[in-house]
Amino acid sequence: MVNNWLRRPWPCYCALCGGHAAGPLDLCDGCADELPWLLHPCMRCGVPLPAPSAVPCGGCLQRPPRFQHCFSPLCYQSPAAELVAALKFHGNLSAGNLLGELLAHHLREQPAATMVEALVPIPLHWRRRWQRGFNQSEVLADVVRRRLRLPVAHGLLRRSRHTTPQQQLDAAARARNLRQAFTVPRAVAGRHLALIDDVATTGATAEAAADALLIAGAASVQLWCVTRTPL
Ligand SMILES: [Zn+2]
Ligand SMILES: [Zn+2]
Repeated sequence: MVNNWLRRPWPCYCALCGGHAAGPLDLCDGCADELPWLLHPCMRCGVPLPAPSAVPCGGCLQRPPRFQHCFSPLCYQSPAAELVAALKFHGNLSAGNLLGELLAHHLREQPAATMVEALVPIPLHWRRRWQRGFNQSEVLADVVRRRLRLPVAHGLLRRSRHTTPQQQLDAAARARNLRQAFTVPRAVAGRHLALIDDVATTGATAEAAADALLIAGAASVQLWCVTRTPL
């Protein structure tokens, strides 16, 4: 009954193969089966682990991240990686909508996600945003906003330096590259926030953003990203 109600009256097409999508998402059953679901995340940083674990991963035990939890439905692998690229580099909004829906659906199953009061898309430097014409994290945040009825805190976090694209750097260089990359121009004291991003690789970008928000007085910061890179 509920499934029937969720079925949309207009024809819907799978964002991956163009086939008929019968469920509530723009995704056919075959493509849903092939998505690289992140099955056993570290309870703290969200990295994919080989098996379920009741304790955080070794990296988190040594040095826990600044963000409290990382929730991601997918590993950054094909065909999820192609969906992210379609959104980010080609402005494909149906890919963005599907990724946002997958993230929102995953968050509904996370009790810790209910404490979040506002969404903070990871900002791009104004120059990159101007070149690209949009920020992919804002596209994702907009879907999550609608689905989870949470406000998007625009302008809460600002990218103050134009940094080298992170993909070109190793972990140590990423951390250096991001030092003081974010500023918080508005009051955040006591607020529980969730950063929204498309991909978390080392988590260095989210780490720097969470650090800036916590120094500015945020009560807690979670990371909600659609895909997580396997170690
Ligand atoms: Zn399909
Ligand atoms: Zn971990």
